[in-house]
Amino acid sequence: MMSMEISYEINGRKINSDKFCESIVDQTKLIALEATAEHIKKYLNSVICPEHEERPILTMKFENSDLSLTFPCCCDLLKNQVSEILQKEMLI
Ligand SMILES: [Zn+2]
Repeated sequence: MMSMEISYEINGRKINSDKFCESIVDQTKLIALEATAEHIKKYLNSVICPEHEERPILTMKFENSDLSLTFPCCCDLLKNQVSEILQKEMLI
């Protein structure tokens, strides 16, 4: 089974996972974010847009010294599904 794609961004620029991890000074926060991402993946792995057959992309972001997770989607339909799941499971 195909699993969710993970992408990494620093200040809006896509970057590979190695470079991303090297760039984060606060490794404790990075480890916590990775754990959260792994957890969330379990709930979002099976989510597919009924219209475009796309999956949300799990994106780890480092912006203005802040680490965060986002889930870019192909359309609002998928975006709503994703936020429903995250809210139901209290992941956000
Ligand atoms: Zn879609």
